[in-house]
Amino acid sequence: MTHDVRLAEPFPLAVARAEGARKWDLDGHELVCYVMGHGALLLGHGHPDVVAAIREQASRSLHPGACHELECEWADLVIRLIPSAERVRFTSSGTEASLLALRVARAATGRDKVVKLAGHFHGWHDQMAIGSDPPFDQADTAGLPTTMADTTRVVPADAEALADVLSARDVAAVILEPTGAAWGTVPFADGFLAAIRKLADESATLLVFDEVVSGFRWAPGGVQELTGVLPDLTVLGKILAGGMPGGAVCGRADLVDLLSGPAAGQRRVAHPGTHNAHPLSAAAGIATLRHASAGQPQAHADRLAAVLREELTAVFWRRGVAGMAFGESSTFHLMFDYAEIPHALDAATLKVSVPPARLFAALHCAMLTEGVHLFHGSGFLSSAHGDREVELTIRAFAFALEQLQAEGLA
Ligand code: PLP
Repeated sequence: MTHDVRLAEPFPLAVARAEGARKWDLDGHELVCYVMGHGALLLGHGHPDVVAAIREQASRSLHPGACHELECEWADLVIRLIPSAERVRFTSSGTEASLLALRVARAATGRDKVVKLAGHFHGWHDQMAIGSDPPFDQADTAGLPTTMADTTRVVPADAEALADVLSARDVAAVILEPTGAAWGTVPFADGFLAAIRKLADESATLLVFDEVVSGFRWAPGGVQELTGVLPDLTVLGKILAGGMPGGAVCGRADLVDLLSGPAAGQRRVAHPGTHNAHPLSAAAGIATLRHASAGQPQAHADRLAAVLREELTAVFWRRGVAGMAFGESSTFHLMFDYAEIPHALDAATLKVSVPPARLFAALHCAMLTEGVHLFHGSGFLSSAHGDREVELTIRAFAFALEQLQAEGLA
């Protein structure tokens, strides 16, 4: 295995080939894909412009070990699209970008602590490997230094709890997914982002949006474009690099400039990395962002996702199950019990209701058997999805749900 999330019983899926909204496993079974490179493929698998750009660059230079023109063009696109981006620094992954953003925040504020929200995911580095999965008041993994909990504080998405933790004025940054936890699985209450912006300003804390999933998908400029709430720093990944490895930190010039030449009295923030702004990632990223900048791929995928969510919910009701498909932008999440919102948090106690794992594992298998690859009860659509994929998915879901009911799981 190479990614925890790909583990599956009785065995993980292995794919031989992918194109558009479809892929084919090693045995030749055709699947409608809702994983879409873990959300990286806004244009679908193997978009001709992206593949051509990678080919072209591969023939020029795989790794010049020097600055190159594509990284400048890539940076220009990010700065043009992301409203709060005055400067950008590329990394090799979203995890590295989140790590770097927090380092910059510490350097800028001279404070050690960072705050994250329960259930929000910011990559797998040590500082953020706490409170992403239930139980949210504990480390997500073995192997963390025990001191990590002293500097990373996990709080519920609740303005009062945040005000309380920020009041000591010793927190460098609050980092969060501006969609709500796990790309909108637990959406924020209206006005919450603006409230956090105010709390951060009042306590001189930096606000970091992790737009690794939402960047270029929720809108060309991410959630910050839609809401008008601007962070100090933004963490990017996935669509940014068009399906190749890549990430970036962008934001206020005075902050990102700490990476190149600090103001007097400040120390420079170090940032090496063999594959930072890799030319193949830059090539794929530029080709993808050129399409994404006009907003058409997003509009197409959003419209289709809305239809899919509505029709999936209708299947639940037709089969007498009190479930629904919900979500924003070009995503969907399946929920089997209105009373049991996946990962729902009790703000005061951090108590959780864990989604029924056996049910979701069975759903995953049943949908695969019917030719649909879900992303753990959720999914990403792309501009390559069409009415035919929605039709096949609805048919597969009706059959899968019938099987789950026959097994007494739904
Ligand atoms: N932040 C969010 C919101 C993510 O969803 C992810 C990955 O899924 C990351 C950060 C980490 O990105 P990467 O997997 O590129 O390290």
